[in-house]
Amino acid sequence: MRLRRIVMGHCGATAAIVGVAAACVGLMGAGRTIAQDAAGGASAKAQAAELREPDARYKVDILLVVAHPDDEGAATAYLARAIDEGKHVAVVYGTRGNNGGNEVGTEQAGALGAIREIEARRALATLGIADVWFLGGQDTASQDVLQSLANWQHGAALEQLVRLMRLTRPEVVLTFLPGTFIGEDHGDHQAAGVLATEAFDLAGDPTVFPNQVAEPLRRLEPYLEGLRPWQPKKIYYFPDADREDIFKGKGPSFSVKEISKSSKKPYWRASLDSFRLHETQAKGFVDRLNKMDDAEIEKMMAADGWASDQTFVLGKSLVGGATTDPIFAGIESGAIPFRRAAFSVEAPKGDVEVTLAGPWSFYAEFRAAHQLTHLPHPKPPEIALQEGTTLIVPLWVRNSTGEAREVTLSAELPSGWTVTSGAGKVKVGANQTAGTRVEIALGALSDKAKGRDGVQAVTVRAESGEKSVGEVVMKVELRKKALPE
Ligand SMILES: [Zn+2]
Repeated sequence: MRLRRIVMGHCGATAAIVGVAAACVGLMGAGRTIAQDAAGGASAKAQAAELREPDARYKVDILLVVAHPDDEGAATAYLARAIDEGKHVAVVYGTRGNNGGNEVGTEQAGALGAIREIEARRALATLGIADVWFLGGQDTASQDVLQSLANWQHGAALEQLVRLMRLTRPEVVLTFLPGTFIGEDHGDHQAAGVLATEAFDLAGDPTVFPNQVAEPLRRLEPYLEGLRPWQPKKIYYFPDADREDIFKGKGPSFSVKEISKSSKKPYWRASLDSFRLHETQAKGFVDRLNKMDDAEIEKMMAADGWASDQTFVLGKSLVGGATTDPIFAGIESGAIPFRRAAFSVEAPKGDVEVTLAGPWSFYAEFRAAHQLTHLPHPKPPEIALQEGTTLIVPLWVRNSTGEAREVTLSAELPSGWTVTSGAGKVKVGANQTAGTRVEIALGALSDKAKGRDGVQAVTVRAESGEKSVGEVVMKVELRKKALPE
């Protein structure tokens, strides 16, 4: 009783009411000392106080980080298999998909987000996944990762993802490949990959969001979180690109036709049955499925590519192994030391230099900063855009000399495409880096029936003092429909 009373004095009534005096002692350094003194001499030495540990219920093997409800479908066939093997999985969504379509009802925007959150939870529940969080970012329809990161409140979203990584302590992180490609190329998908990569490199660093790793020392100090730093061991990506060539052999590959021990069905079927819960996104498709028997479903899915192999790209492994090793190869339970990423910024190359800016220069710097220079990315950069819209070529104009310099910009374009602004002379001050842009009106689609043309090259040239100071080439594919640049 004496122990209880003393503890109450330090920790407050709540702990006493719920009857967890011992837990309170474990939490509070000062409380423990007093409690041991109170218990007195020999018995205190014999019985070491038990310190509380992180909540084991939330420790996972795999943390999946995606952007929208239904994105998890990119990995559910593999997740079903991993769960069969006893792995624990948690999922983080960047947004609630509030800008998506709605094939079921009239709800849009915030109301649609509220529905899609439940669809995601129900879809994951079919696989036995219940640990699901949403970062609360705004669904942002563009191909520009920087727009998505801005609209998700990058700093706040990263803080929450680092918190969730420290809470769930994943061995492996799975996410979208951070990069820009011809494909759906959704900026939100890319943002999920960027945040997951940043959190992978930061969650183990005790100086990052230190309030999360500090423990409350006093009563009424509810701002410190008592998490432990955590360094995940591997990060793998799945691309949001049309092309497959540059991802081959860059990571492990799995057949989704293997039969699940638990459901006795192939893993692609687990993925499909989970996807059926996203009715706002695919009601027509789900209605058709509901009228089919298993054999008809199998025939349709084979044609739609649901049964093709699932391939991941290895981002990095801190436990060694080969690129195409199975995901859990080399992973043993227990923490590994935090590795701070070494990073140096490349010095400017010439006196005056013009380079591609926007998401492309961001990704070049991002890959260097996170030791991901091996990640596949298209060379030259590529993008798919809607016919008749505008291509903006963002540029950095760097002048490392002590005098202002004049730079002349010009563009070489496919026939029928025209420069609407940005070509001609620009002046950049001494030791300045300035941003500019060349805007190009795109032509019309020639192959209307197919809905897309072959890729065509756009070249922007920069000259200063009659010599070339930069050449930016982009491959552009015209489509009937595409997200804005
Ligand atoms: Zn998505």
